[in-house]
Amino acid sequence: MTTPESIKKIVELLLVSNNITALTGAGVSAESGIATFRDPEGLWAKFDPLELASIDGFMSNPERVWSWYQYRVNIVNNAKPNKGHYALAEFNKLNMNFNLITQNVDGLHQRAGSENVIELHGSIIRNKCFSCNEIHEEEILSENLLNYCKYCNGLIRPDVVWFGEMLPEREIDKAQKLASKTDLFFSIGTSAEVHPAAELPIISKREGAVLIEINPLKTQLSEFADIRIALPSGEAMPLIIEEYKKRVIK
Ligand code: NAD
Ligand code: ZN
Repeated sequence: MTTPESIKKIVELLLVSNNITALTGAGVSAESGIATFRDPEGLWAKFDPLELASIDGFMSNPERVWSWYQYRVNIVNNAKPNKGHYALAEFNKLNMNFNLITQNVDGLHQRAGSENVIELHGSIIRNKCFSCNEIHEEEILSENLLNYCKYCNGLIRPDVVWFGEMLPEREIDKAQKLASKTDLFFSIGTSAEVHPAAELPIISKREGAVLIEINPLKTQLSEFADIRIALPSGEAMPLIIEEYKKRVIK
């Protein structure tokens, strides 16, 4: 199928689906200038994930972990949502039966206007206590990397899921339920290598959903996808949503 044919087919499916789910990954924010993890230019090519994104890494050198997160928070604060985020947010408003699940921690979907986003891996702009888990809204200032919990004096850490940690139970639960009842599942800008998020498209497919992948590069999910669009999400998603609008807005 050519890309225009695939877009037409996707819109036909959108029009007859009662339940639509999308899972996004770092690729969706690449066009906002936020590096992915696993691409050749990605962050893990330059940094050691186990030192920077694990409990052991944090316990052995919390300052190093904090300066890496400060560096990323700065990039996120200076970034803007891109056309892919906006197209998904627009679809979110047009279709009540659409649910958005993200592995991203940058909050750009919400800044673009998406509501009720399920954040599987937490948020880089939120912090919590390492000991008592209490959420801390106050900003962590770069000159003062180590901050302590006002309730228990534990160290404050970013509220993200690190290697070896469990995903927030409510979020993964909700995501698995959505995946198993959805008619149409979009996997957008994810390498589909991080578990358990990577199982969601497979769950949906097993339960009978049509699986669509939007990614310029092939992933291990590609062979299971019914339709693949090999374009950046900032190009593919607006094409799909514009075509959808032509059909629903008269
Ligand atoms: P990943 O880095 O493993 O894979 C990124 C994928 O995006 C690749 O398959 C790549 O081909 C694709 N891609 C690159 N540019 C794209 C574009 N413009 N449009 C569509 N696809 C594009 O990312 P992942 O699968 O999300 O897993 C990484 C983990 O890292 C997640 O757990 C996530 O929490 C975290 N992470 C988050 C951010 C963020 O919040 N922006 C950034 C980096 C990593
Ligand atoms: Zn505490």
